[in-house]
Amino acid sequence: MNSIEDSIRLFKEQLEKIRAYGHAMGIMYYDMETVMPPAAAELVGDTLGLLSEAEYRLQTDESFLSAMNEILLHPDEVDEITLCEAKRTNEERERIACIPVDEYVQAQIDQTAAFNAWQKAKLNNDFASFLPHLEKLIETTKRFALYYKPDAPVYDTLLDQYEKGLTTETADRFFLQVRSALVPLIEAIQKNGYQPDTSFLDQPYPLDKQRELTRYLMQVMRMDPERTACGEVEHPFTTDFTKNDVRITTHYYENAMQSSMYSVIHEAGHATYELNIADEIARSPLGTGVSMGVHESQSRFYENIIGRSEPFIESIFPKLKELFPAQLEGVTPHMFYLAVNKAEPSLIRTEADELTYALHVMVRYELEKKLFDGSLKACDLPEAWNKLYREYLGVEVPDDTHGVLQDSHWSGGSFGYFPSYAIGSAYGAQLLAKMEQELDIWAFVKEGNLQPIMDWLTERIYRYGCRLDPKDLMEQAFGAPFDPSYYTKYLTAKFSGLYHLS
Ligand SMILES: [Zn+2]
Repeated sequence: MNSIEDSIRLFKEQLEKIRAYGHAMGIMYYDMETVMPPAAAELVGDTLGLLSEAEYRLQTDESFLSAMNEILLHPDEVDEITLCEAKRTNEERERIACIPVDEYVQAQIDQTAAFNAWQKAKLNNDFASFLPHLEKLIETTKRFALYYKPDAPVYDTLLDQYEKGLTTETADRFFLQVRSALVPLIEAIQKNGYQPDTSFLDQPYPLDKQRELTRYLMQVMRMDPERTACGEVEHPFTTDFTKNDVRITTHYYENAMQSSMYSVIHEAGHATYELNIADEIARSPLGTGVSMGVHESQSRFYENIIGRSEPFIESIFPKLKELFPAQLEGVTPHMFYLAVNKAEPSLIRTEADELTYALHVMVRYELEKKLFDGSLKACDLPEAWNKLYREYLGVEVPDDTHGVLQDSHWSGGSFGYFPSYAIGSAYGAQLLAKMEQELDIWAFVKEGNLQPIMDWLTERIYRYGCRLDPKDLMEQAFGAPFDPSYYTKYLTAKFSGLYHLS
């Protein structure tokens, strides 16, 4: 019989090994998305398959699990962090231990193949070539969800994976509330006919100057250069290995400088969360953001609520003028503010404005629900996608590249992820309301000093990592239950002002 000290030691040593495998695979995924040549895909897929098999064996190893159980059985004899690590590890174990090892490994290999097939399909507007991969991923996702929770609706299990506690019922209610507030607002804007001048954005902005802007924005976002880096990819994302290695990515378009500008602020928002996790849990499985909803609440808070505010534009405008004097000749901060807040139904989610964004998410949410309750077949996705874009956003989808193939999520097996973008936006609006009561935030933003805001969020959210469940964490930060009406009120006030609606 091992003593509790032995169990703790064994448990921690094994966690360190699991972390190392995760680290190696994470670097490979980062490499795959940034610089890997296409022909390496097969070898990388095989290596990832072997590494994930080894990781799976570590996670399901008997001695590791019995050490973990000893800890869970003696909560009074272990410190709080170790106990919390054991609880989180147990939750993770329950999710994967029900999957036979060969199926688990095969799923990793299939995912790499699907991701590569999707990249080609998107490039060639060829949904048919991606379809068999997508069908396989959906089938596997369904099977794994049922291994884990045989009696639960599959889509609820998937939602819970990205935002613990979120169910279809809550998400339905949330989206209904958001949609009924946004649709009339969007219609009023379209009826009113006014649109800001955006012509100065639609001209060439040299890429080397855009890269310089990225470096400047990373400074504004307080990103420590010793602990962060920025890569270039097709679809920007952030990845973290510990709080000492957080990598953001962006994509530059010569004729749309605002695209990379806001990608950088968005991804830097994700990074800020990771960079401010408490040191004591930095290398622990607790040392990362708690859920995708909370993560997106931070990225979208900095991107939209701060980054698209007039005080923020005023604070960075001298730098914009310095980098792009010819392009911004005669442009004022106010004109820039109006232009980057132009609200107009469009085709591409990642380029969507703050107001119509949630409708893009709703399209994906409705389709995912149907894919997993069996009422929609993958082969009918393009048609269903185009129909919902017509219905929700009033736009005609010209081809699958600008439609169903635009996002990478499904090709990575991430089903149930999208709602977290909208939930996160709503979290952000409620955080703003609370922050405004306690902090003169717009005065800080105007002088380009985001530190007090980051300190406020670190104290209430970042430092905890995964120590609290998302619901408890956010209720603690809000000082109240989650209430989506903060989000609809925030958008109504902002866009009524921008579009002179009474
Ligand atoms: Zn994000």
